Amino acid sequence: MLNALRTSAASFIALAALQTPLAQGSDLRGFTAASATTQKEWETKFRAIPDPVRLRAAMERLSARPHHVGSAYGKSNAEWLRDQFASYGWEAKIEEYRVLFPTPKERRVELVEPTRFVAKLEEPVIPTDASTSQRAEQLPTYNSYSGEGDVTAPLVYVNYGVPADYEELDRRGISVRGAIVIARYGGSWRGIKPKLAAEKGAVGCIIYSDPRDDGYAQGDVYPAGPWRPKDGVQRGSVLDLPVAPGDPLTVGTGATVDAPRIDRAAATTIMKIPVLPISYGDAQPLLAALGGPVVPDAWRGALPITYKMGPGPAKVRLKAEFNWTLAPVYNVVATLRGSELPDEWVVRGNHHDGWVNGAEDPIAGMIAELEEARALGELVKQGWRPRRTIVYTAWDAEEPALLGSTEWAEHHAAELKQKAVLYLNTDGNGRGFLYAGGSHSLERLVNQVARSVDDPESRGTVWRRAQAARIRYGGPAQRREARERQDLRIDALGSGSDFTPFLQHLGVATLNLGFGGEDGGGIYHSIYDTFSWFTRFSDTSFVYGKALAQVAGTIVMRVANADILPHEFGALAETARGYVGELKALREEVAGRIAETNRQIDDGVFAATQDPKRPERLPAKESLAPHLNFAPLDNAAESLARAAARFERAQGSALGATLDKASATAVNAMLKDVERTMTSDQGLPRRPWYRHLLYAPGYYTGYGVKTMPAAREAIEQKQWAEAEREMGRVAAALDAAAVQINKAAEKLENGR
Ligand SMILES: [Zn+2]
Repeated sequence: MLNALRTSAASFIALAALQTPLAQGSDLRGFTAASATTQKEWETKFRAIPDPVRLRAAMERLSARPHHVGSAYGKSNAEWLRDQFASYGWEAKIEEYRVLFPTPKERRVELVEPTRFVAKLEEPVIPTDASTSQRAEQLPTYNSYSGEGDVTAPLVYVNYGVPADYEELDRRGISVRGAIVIARYGGSWRGIKPKLAAEKGAVGCIIYSDPRDDGYAQGDVYPAGPWRPKDGVQRGSVLDLPVAPGDPLTVGTGATVDAPRIDRAAATTIMKIPVLPISYGDAQPLLAALGGPVVPDAWRGALPITYKMGPGPAKVRLKAEFNWTLAPVYNVVATLRGSELPDEWVVRGNHHDGWVNGAEDPIAGMIAELEEARALGELVKQGWRPRRTIVYTAWDAEEPALLGSTEWAEHHAAELKQKAVLYLNTDGNGRGFLYAGGSHSLERLVNQVARSVDDPESRGTVWRRAQAARIRYGGPAQRREARERQDLRIDALGSGSDFTPFLQHLGVATLNLGFGGEDGGGIYHSIYDTFSWFTRFSDTSFVYGKALAQVAGTIVMRVANADILPHEFGALAETARGYVGELKALREEVAGRIAETNRQIDDGVFAATQDPKRPERLPAKESLAPHLNFAPLDNAAESLARAAARFERAQGSALGATLDKASATAVNAMLKDVERTMTSDQGLPRRPWYRHLLYAPGYYTGYGVKTMPAAREAIEQKQWAEAEREMGRVAAALDAAAVQINKAAEKLENGR
């Protein structure tokens, strides 16, 4: 607000005239002119409260010792967070669950032929960073929910270990059946690597961090710089998260102490083969011992060796055994009761557990959330009341498999479906540009809020800075849109953080936010993600922690007190139409590829270009792709666009006139359920836990999102009958959303 005061009156008016006029009662979406005035005053007070000094102190406390699920300090952090929320005037408690949490009993990676080398599997202490020396409390380097085993087999390098990499191996006639694969981190979520390797018949999987991706090829390594040192290892989950996150023994139900549990042997989401992560220090001797063809350019990392595929002559022993214990999960849940609509909940969350000290991941986000809670508590002391109930959560056990949030969401599923109007997630934070992902019905809201928060490093707002970044770094289409479109687009969400159970299992409208893009680093999930690292190489003055608290807290306040929930469906309709266009293009591309390959086979092109010294396996002819019926999807996207336009008019005039409270309440109840109309109780094929028909993590990409996932993946896999069936289900979901939006519009039209 200070910036606006400094602007001269003339330029202020000129700016206001440039803004697209909005057909509604105020420039705060969902508010009448009268309530917008009060809302703005409280928001301004709110944004003045978050304090970098407190953010820093909270990070120092929460990241002082290793705090993974089941650790003493993790429990201490949960209790401290609960007490902080309580001291801010919130009703705060800990909700406990019991989850299967494997920790290493034995880990071994050895090169046994042609020479011998034993991998260290240990991250050295850095004398200048005392946090790295807390040996007794650190979890060893491992991948949670790896299979167990002791295998010795020839080694094969599979690059990132994604489907395209196996096609490349296949062309060279290299199979991984009976082999141990070594894949580098990146290119997909890590769990996809062992999953795909196991599907291809591999008996073990090693994942290493190549210095090309986050080590010395990027910059100086820790402690001289922020990048991954030679022996730094990325821990992480390899649960089959695209099938279902959370406790593998209680899929679909909350893992309370007395919940029914299946036998571990029957758990489908635990990886079947042993997996271990290693450093590039440990990986180099293994990779250097490989023979076979030299890899293509795109497969080469930054180690000073010739990268080859194998198999062999390198032969490796991989052993992994775990303690399969039930660990306690401590979720912190704090509530500010709504004064008028206590049964409508705005839910906010960030996880509090880390793999080790976890200063960046997750504490940089957790401290912003905590500072929001303090600021909201201050406002309450000054007389502010949230109309809706605000629920602030700090999740435990996110790292091993989104356990805390998933168990809580499953446990409270019925209540959340009835009450939750928003789930707002953060997970870590950095310096730079605001990014946002989530439900496209919330795109307008995010943009409006981003326009009201000052960026700490530039003269404008965080919105202006995000827009400038898209203009400068985006491709031509993105650049044009950033200049001309009213709002910056938000991303669709895949997975990789606690938003997944809310959006994709329960169908709650969801957002995920953070800042980043100005600092890199290679400390992710290692013992080097510490307070010392963060305060030297990331948001060192905590100004972006403050900005995150301002953005997230303003969104919470706005949703909590809106007269009509601030959903806008034009962006949803436009996005859905875009996805339909992508599906059509994908079908054309797959069809074209099949036809071209068949033609080259018929013309003898492969036989004629075969290099006898490097023989390739020749492709076989495939059946041509059938045409698909996109009409139901086109029609549904159009109905959705019409419903969105009708709702826009109706809410604009309702908010502009005197809004009748009873009909507003009825409309809000309808709006809350729009997201859920796009889910199906049956779920996605082969993964019924995932119910959203628009957004899911990719079956073979992991965190990466697949939009209209079942239809898209069926086309990618050339399952044409399934593609047609799934397109029908998506069309029905969009139709259902349109019906629900029309109902809300009608209520507004009649309520006046
Ligand atoms: Zn995290």
